[in-house]
Amino acid sequence: MPFIAYFAQTFFLGIVKIFYYKHKLQNWFSADNAKHQTLGFVPTMGALHDGHMSLVEAANKHCDLTIASIFVNPKQFDKPEDLLKYPRTEEQDCDILVRNGCNIAFIPNNDDLYGGNYKNIELDLGHLAHVYEGEKREGHFEGVIQVLYQLFDAIKPTDVFFGQKDYQQCMVVNKILDRYFPSIIMHTIPTHRDKEGLALSSRNKRLSEEGIVKARHFNKALHLAAKNMHEGTEKALKMASEYMLLHGLEVEYLDFANANDLTPSKNWEGIPQKIVAVSAVWLEGVRLIDNFVF
Ligand code: AMP
Repeated sequence: MPFIAYFAQTFFLGIVKIFYYKHKLQNWFSADNAKHQTLGFVPTMGALHDGHMSLVEAANKHCDLTIASIFVNPKQFDKPEDLLKYPRTEEQDCDILVRNGCNIAFIPNNDDLYGGNYKNIELDLGHLAHVYEGEKREGHFEGVIQVLYQLFDAIKPTDVFFGQKDYQQCMVVNKILDRYFPSIIMHTIPTHRDKEGLALSSRNKRLSEEGIVKARHFNKALHLAAKNMHEGTEKALKMASEYMLLHGLEVEYLDFANANDLTPSKNWEGIPQKIVAVSAVWLEGVRLIDNFVF
């Protein structure tokens, strides 16, 4: 935490009001400093980019007040080294939030979210816990549930904004809302990409220039899979996998799923009306995910 924040705890930077502590944020809300009808919330892990800002922009459009959180949640990392390597650019992030008209930044620490009378939140994710990100990243969604519950409970937003880039996460968020926060409105925002289709991601910051060129083939491969679907799911997936390997992308998983409930293609009884091609790949030691709905 910056030195000044240790004493002041909150201060104004441009037009963003920054809070480092839950109780300070809640005091500010309850003192009726924020005379808002609607409060849009954008949870992030920082290292902000234009993809995050498309969520802030949507929140600004829909709500009277926008709050973004920056918290690298240790509970959702299955590998300690991945957590350590996660980019942290707090000062730059605050500048970006100012420039994009975000009203409040909430930057809590681990103890504030998980200390005191924190209790583990239970939620049955059904098959979502066992496919794709649920299967490959042990405990990941468990961690996502914990942090989002704490943040939603502390902030009490009317609306929340999530990126479609994390397709399965959006389904998990819907389950959290259904079970614990039924009045909160969920907004799913399309994936923001560079001009060659690469999904913007904080993890891209760890790629070399050459890596970025390779990563641009990721989404192209998903389009290729969709285009070849008429040849049969297995053949289409094989062709897309080969395309990825050819361009230096190591495939962790690649599949078609029912876009409504993420039923994997091997369990389909017929071809669903809306399909999502989902994938995770490794490149230069960095794990990337993407999807394409068709
Ligand atoms: P993260 O900081 O990676 O946890 O992401 C915070 C939020 O931003 C999540 O809802 C992500 O789905 C969303 N997000 C990340 N990258 C993008 C992108 N390229 N386009 C749209 N939303 C994104």
